[in-house]
Amino acid sequence: MKLIFERSSAGRGTSYLPACDVPSVTPNTELREIALHLPEVPETEIDRHYTELSHQVYGVNTGFYPLGSCTMKYNPMINEAAASLPGFAEIHPLAGDENTQGALEVMKLLEDSLKEITGMDAVTLQPAAGAHGEFTGLLLIKAWHKAKGNDKRTKIIVPDSAHGTNPASAAMAGFEVVSIPSDENGCVDIDALKAAVGEDTAGLMLTNPNTVGIFDKNITEITKIIHDAGGVNYYDGANLNAVMGVARPGDMGFDVVHVNLHKTFSTPHGGGGPGSGPVGCKEFLKEFLPGIQAECTEDGTAFRSVREEHSIGDMRSFGSNFSVVVKALAYVLSLGKTGIRETSENAVLNANYLMHLLKKNYECAYDRTCMHEFVLDLAHLKEEHGISALDVAKALLDAGIHPPTMYFPLIVHEALMFEPTETETKETLEACALAMENILKEALANPEGAHAKPEHTMIRRLDEVGAARNPVIRYTFDSEEK
Ligand SMILES: *Cc1c(COP(=O)(O)O)cnc(C)c1O
Repeated sequence: MKLIFERSSAGRGTSYLPACDVPSVTPNTELREIALHLPEVPETEIDRHYTELSHQVYGVNTGFYPLGSCTMKYNPMINEAAASLPGFAEIHPLAGDENTQGALEVMKLLEDSLKEITGMDAVTLQPAAGAHGEFTGLLLIKAWHKAKGNDKRTKIIVPDSAHGTNPASAAMAGFEVVSIPSDENGCVDIDALKAAVGEDTAGLMLTNPNTVGIFDKNITEITKIIHDAGGVNYYDGANLNAVMGVARPGDMGFDVVHVNLHKTFSTPHGGGGPGSGPVGCKEFLKEFLPGIQAECTEDGTAFRSVREEHSIGDMRSFGSNFSVVVKALAYVLSLGKTGIRETSENAVLNANYLMHLLKKNYECAYDRTCMHEFVLDLAHLKEEHGISALDVAKALLDAGIHPPTMYFPLIVHEALMFEPTETETKETLEACALAMENILKEALANPEGAHAKPEHTMIRRLDEVGAARNPVIRYTFDSEEK
């Protein structure tokens, strides 16, 4: 497709504004030396340009998007409508409690819902993303140890299957990361955990179900080992649609949790946000929470915002990414208690059904009932036929399906991680399984051809390293030096 500058032709599209009817003034300083390059295109061409661009975008609204650990599900439009109501969308962040009673009520209701769903005692809606929530939670843990006068607890234990943001957040919060191995089921190796804990343990960061989609049956033993050692348990609840309404991190022995509203609670994601990563915590950490929380006044007739006395401070400006909060509340209320549970049950059912279908042709990294996602291991296919996870992922593009997550988690070397989510139909899952079967057949018949996929996309195989290392993000005009 042509760039807007390539559609441009001098003298076209200059008639949008009436001729200037005041004397033009030329400042004698700050004047550009080269004329500004503006595309000159008629309105039809602009319209077509943006329409064509929009057709190049692949999203959940286009087709199946089983990107593991990302929860690319359909988000009901009605929640967008709620967030767009002028009373929510046009509110000013400095309007003050007396002028924002409705917004405070929304915050209070969502805080209460998330407390109930996660089994926590308090919630901050301030963090703007999952990783931001992790960082916030870790600062709470740090503040608690510090308040107890304990500055020796400098280590956070993170399993090797963790999402990459976990060790990164722990390091950013000033902790030393201790990585522990997983057992043959992809779960925490209890002996390794016991060996890792000690006087210097600040806490543990864990995802359960973990990143290979398996619920760790030893979870209460794991959290107890940390508590007994004097540490705090952090739960990465980014993908809460595996368990919400069924099991609660708070009941598993966790003390802090973040959830991704832009995965589980109805805000589309990708493309830079806005997102939201609320953090819940148990009572003993509440006094350190950042930002404001919404609460009812004593007589129950109004709402007000409050700050914690020993707060770690603000994690960003103002209370929250409020539009995301509105969407999440609309979503929670429209589902209700039974709907929340059903959502998780369907996410798990869909993942198991797709795994079952794919097992006929591919090997599972962990061949047991999964939660909301599962991982295929293509190591044998690569060794025996030279067909890699990347080849299969690229071939899926020709089938009009967004590839699953590749080469993650790192503990599976030729990993393809599928997360179908609760919003896909049986027919979509079956069509994906059929596409995967056909890809395999074709690749086995012609391994060379498999390396040349995709064939039908606008851009074929990219030099991905080159694109990351030397990105060309700016158009160079003929008049400029190349
Ligand atoms: C997506 C995800 C995160 C990070 O969330 P962001 O909003 O992208 O920062 C953390 N942990 C897990 C398990 C995730 O899937």
